[in-house]
Amino acid sequence: MDLQFIKGIGPKKKKLLEQMGLYSTEDMLRHYPRRYEDRTRRFALSELEDGQVATLAVWVVNVTEQRPRSGLHILKAGIRDGSGVGVATWFNQPYLKVKLAAGTGWLLTGKARRQFGRLEIAVQDMEPFSEEGQEEDAGRILAVYPAAAGLQQKLFRQVVAWVLDNLPPLEEYHPPMVLEKYGLPARMEAVEEVHRPRSWEALDKARERLVFDEFFFLQLSLAVMRKRDFREAGISHVHQGTLTDSWVGSLPFELTGAQKRVIGEIRADMAEPYAMARLVQGDVGSGKTAAAAWALLLAVENGRQGAMMAPTEILARQHAETLAGWFEPLGLKVGFFSGGLGQKESRLLREALAAGEIHVAVGTHALIQEKMVYRDLGLVIIDEQHRFGVRQRALLQEKGRHPDMLIMSATPIPRTLALTLYGDLDVSILDEMPPGRQPVETICILEKAREKLDFLLRRELDRGNQAFVVCPLIEESEVMDLQNAEEVCRRLEGKLKPYRVGLLHGRMPGDEKEKVMEAFSRGEIGALVSTTVVEVGVNVPSATVMVVENSERFGLAQLHQLRGRVGRGDVQAYCILVTNTNEPYALQRLKLMTETNDGFRLAEEDLLLRGPGEMFGARQHGLPEFRLAELPKDLKLMERAREAAFRLAEEDPELEKPEHSGLKRVIGEKMAEMVNG
Ligand code: ADP
Ligand code: MG
Repeated sequence: MDLQFIKGIGPKKKKLLEQMGLYSTEDMLRHYPRRYEDRTRRFALSELEDGQVATLAVWVVNVTEQRPRSGLHILKAGIRDGSGVGVATWFNQPYLKVKLAAGTGWLLTGKARRQFGRLEIAVQDMEPFSEEGQEEDAGRILAVYPAAAGLQQKLFRQVVAWVLDNLPPLEEYHPPMVLEKYGLPARMEAVEEVHRPRSWEALDKARERLVFDEFFFLQLSLAVMRKRDFREAGISHVHQGTLTDSWVGSLPFELTGAQKRVIGEIRADMAEPYAMARLVQGDVGSGKTAAAAWALLLAVENGRQGAMMAPTEILARQHAETLAGWFEPLGLKVGFFSGGLGQKESRLLREALAAGEIHVAVGTHALIQEKMVYRDLGLVIIDEQHRFGVRQRALLQEKGRHPDMLIMSATPIPRTLALTLYGDLDVSILDEMPPGRQPVETICILEKAREKLDFLLRRELDRGNQAFVVCPLIEESEVMDLQNAEEVCRRLEGKLKPYRVGLLHGRMPGDEKEKVMEAFSRGEIGALVSTTVVEVGVNVPSATVMVVENSERFGLAQLHQLRGRVGRGDVQAYCILVTNTNEPYALQRLKLMTETNDGFRLAEEDLLLRGPGEMFGARQHGLPEFRLAELPKDLKLMERAREAAFRLAEEDPELEKPEHSGLKRVIGEKMAEMVNG
């Protein structure tokens, strides 16, 4: 229902609400409070303890302003209530001064500090206070909503109350059995309690139910998607050995135990007459490409084509070269597709692909362009999946008729997050490194000890080795980041003469990037300074040093990935984390890097410390947004929701039973959202 019909909402308020994405009464119910105020009892100034967060009713006595230094403004108000006096403080909100006239009454929520007999309250939230309003809210736990300027808390409370009191109750979509089994309150009760909690216990229960639902629908859509893939006739790729076995025999190395196991899992999956959906996870250097190559050959020996998509041109090209080196001796043709190709070249390649003359297509997003036509696509492989969204995954699959799908990820994904991101996939893990690799030695050095780094770099270059130097995004602007990288580059040029120092940055055109990369691969460039992480996803065996500037700005998972770029040869490699931070927390994270090489351990740690959104950096795709749920805090609920969802999909995959009709409707909407989002 439209919000304008509700008392208290005129055209102006309506517009402000719409700007917050709130259009309907349903939106209002889903606009959950960001915190609560405890009005179940009233706190008095005299009883506040140091460190306590509380809501108080006070009167302003006087107001003063301070500017201890530029950029810092402090507003201080002398306050009193019946029990005593204190000082309330606001930081950098000078405009509040006019409101805080002597004699006005306020409900302040803030954190108390007692020092030398003085009580100071750092205010987090404030509301005008009148005896009347106070009576109304006394004794309650009061919801505080995220609100834009011009919208009062009172409005949110009123509107939500009106909706709760006047509209028909929300439908329950879980069968009673499920609610009972997981000890969850009914939907309407949960929504009511989350907005107007009767007690802290009831609020906890309500939140649990709503978080459960957020997870449940995500998991159910994953379960249903997976079921659908299963039932739709896929392709059965049966092991012939004509190509796969000859290739394995031609390799200069023996496959690791883990590679053999994973290939076995892929083989079993691809033989089934439904579409494979499998994730291969393995640390950088664990040999995922070989597993992928085997799968591609299996598709080709069954008369089909394979496609492999990578997020960057450099990575894609490297894959194309590796695969061509392996496959061409077997008489196969590998085509490389990228946005950078000339028109004629790209047309000829596409014709060859459509005619089936190209057996394996490797490339970037170019592979999913509309004009790309495959003769008979049997297998799609996606590298570094977390850079692609669900939608791109689907687009590549649509190029064939239910092709098998293999996803490769070098970012160890904690189990928690894997359930969220990849709940619809089977998982294979490459947990063994090819033999003969020495672990990379990781050292954290402070800016001021930089000479140590220069010394190490020169020593390595003198030995004929090479170095990566990665600079993070520091400024918001690309220009500034580039300046930073250029400065690092110039400095190194001075220090490392006569060795050449190269620069690779996000703004360079593709062919220029490639020239630099090639010069680096050939060893003409000794140290390569780069602004972006992605571009270094390449294999240069004589690179033995990975320097990360301002390393405290990276996530642990990212640092671990960068570290994996070196140590591919058989000599000792180093990862040098440069920092000038003195924040104990950041230093602790960097120290962990020096202590462990276990990517999964680091990923778990990262998730705990920084939360899922940050794990892959800012441009993460495909991670669902939750309104209430928080990981890893709500892991238990996630597991329960997953169990419930997968059981349901097993029991009633089409959701045809009458007791599942409500769920069926909701899931339809959610899935549409996921695929389009
Ligand atoms: P990932 O993609 O998992 O980071 P790659 O597939 O690029 O790793 O493999 C890294 C390097 O290890 C490549 O040079 C590859 O040829 C080599 N390699 C792969 N498997 C083995 C093996 N079983 N024994 C020795 N070397 C291997
Ligand atoms: Mg790889």
